[in-house]
Amino acid sequence: MDKLVVKKDKCIGCGICVNDNPAYFEFDDEGLSEVKKESVDVKDKEALLDTIEQCPTEAIVIEN
Ligand code: SF4
Repeated sequence: MDKLVVKKDKCIGCGICVNDNPAYFEFDDEGLSEVKKESVDVKDKEALLDTIEQCPTEAIVIEN
């Protein structure tokens, strides 16, 4: 199963992931991204990979 992970120590809270994939990411109380839905649906993987590329700090990964 593909598992979505945000490395919070790298996140700067730019909001790209939350705006592009609100089903998978949300902001925590400190304005940093956290994973809302951990298991990646096959139909959403391409969009998530695109978001991963756009993250300015490479804070998002998909683990197998
Ligand atoms: Fe944080 Fe990256 Fe999401 Fe921006 S795109 S909020 S830096 S995880």
